[in-house]
Amino acid sequence: GSTEQTAAAIPNDRLLGGLLSSDFDEESCLSRYQIALYRKASSHILSPYLLSKLRKYEALHKKCAPNTPLFQKSIEQIKLNYSTDQLECNYVVSSPYDGIGNRMLALTATFLYALLTDRVMLMHQLDDMVDLLCEPFPGTTWYLPSDFPIQGLEWHNKHSQNSYGYLVEKNLINIDPKASPSSLPSSIYVHLMNDMQDDHLHVRFFCDDDQLVINKINWVLLRTNQYIIPGLFIIPKYAEELERMFPSKETVFHHLGRYLLHPSNTVWGMIMRYHNSYLTKSKERIGIQVRNFSYWAPISAKKAYEQVVRCTQQQLILPGVNLNQSQTSPSTSTEATAKTVLLVSLSREVYERLYNLYFEHPTTTGQMISVYQPSHEEKQKFQNKFHNYKAMVEIWLLSFSDVLVTTAISTFGYVSYSLAGIKPWYLQTAIMDQNITNPSCRRALSIEPCYHTPPHFNCKTGGNVDPRSIVHHVRQCDDDYYHEPAI
Ligand code: GDP
Repeated sequence: GSTEQTAAAIPNDRLLGGLLSSDFDEESCLSRYQIALYRKASSHILSPYLLSKLRKYEALHKKCAPNTPLFQKSIEQIKLNYSTDQLECNYVVSSPYDGIGNRMLALTATFLYALLTDRVMLMHQLDDMVDLLCEPFPGTTWYLPSDFPIQGLEWHNKHSQNSYGYLVEKNLINIDPKASPSSLPSSIYVHLMNDMQDDHLHVRFFCDDDQLVINKINWVLLRTNQYIIPGLFIIPKYAEELERMFPSKETVFHHLGRYLLHPSNTVWGMIMRYHNSYLTKSKERIGIQVRNFSYWAPISAKKAYEQVVRCTQQQLILPGVNLNQSQTSPSTSTEATAKTVLLVSLSREVYERLYNLYFEHPTTTGQMISVYQPSHEEKQKFQNKFHNYKAMVEIWLLSFSDVLVTTAISTFGYVSYSLAGIKPWYLQTAIMDQNITNPSCRRALSIEPCYHTPPHFNCKTGGNVDPRSIVHHVRQCDDDYYHEPAI
């Protein structure tokens, strides 16, 4: 409509169509304003309402940030053990967990919850995330101070006795929607990790009446490793607001991720060094992410390689090779028709095989194909800052691609394609190294990440319900063949 705009209007627009505030010191976070030179402008509608919400949020955050008198006042309230409606600043603390993909989804989803509930979001940062991201809000900080009265958030779990689910189960909280704030605790833990099942009362977080209760509590401590945003769409209370913020429902992460997540100067330095050394030569950049879920869907490097070749050749993403002409004269192709492949994986072998394919044989089209892999960490490492930096670097480099092939179910892949705004080709995952069926990949239906473990809880009856029947645009993960029906 006439009131809507797309960020694509201006190429290299450093503020991304008004998504980013201009109030930052550029040097403190080079990626924020430089990214427009590397990642394509968004072609997806950005609502003026969302932009105004973000500017209002930034003002609220500044007013309520750690080290302000209003923050101190809210901290005093925690110590009183009951809530009040007299505070100007209420908070949600995010404690992102698991791999970098999961953490980026969790942070962004919690930020949307903050926007919907007029809370200020603070991040409880684990040591292995130090200097990974920039401050996202101008003139303030989003880090939870280390002397926060509630310690050990990373150890909270589904059994924690300060969790909403536990308190409801044991009848220790007044869940009458008309309950006064003073009858409620001053803080509550909300457990939305992937081990939250529909038979746990934690799931009531996604019910309208429970939101009325939770909204009166001054501090919400929220742990998730999931993309809970489709769950927020199920809550009737927030439907209208979400509609105004996101007229196109499948662009939530695309826009909010571009708004919130900026690699630190340390990480951006790595991104720039790699990009400028290897990825600027050709016109077309193909990003391929090969993830081996070794616990539940292991696949050998040889099979993964064969799947990549089948997928990219069947879908005409990469040319085939002429196996009989290994001695032909050098290709005459120019840089304009050459393609650069960024292959991202924990293992080296898929890369070596693909590299050798195009090194040892001429392509049938005469195009030159260069294949690069920034790192091969061999396995997922925990509590390792530089390992996390590399994951972030590779997700961001993938998001500069023209075409993406990502592994189904992987949140690492989700973040890269959603930031790029590109529907990827999904490499199907296999169980127990079975042969992958034909076709070996298929096109995603949307650029939105998927919620792997959504609630199937009927808030009215306490029974089960298919969430797709509540909100029709919420659908099954189109990359998920082996989990329960999801959204
Ligand atoms: P998911 O497990 O695929 O959903 O993605 P996550 O990012 O949440 O967790 C996987 C973690 O394993 C990453 O954060 C990295 O630490 C590591 N990892 C997996 N694949 C890669 C890769 O291709 N490159 C790098 N550098 N790390 C990877």
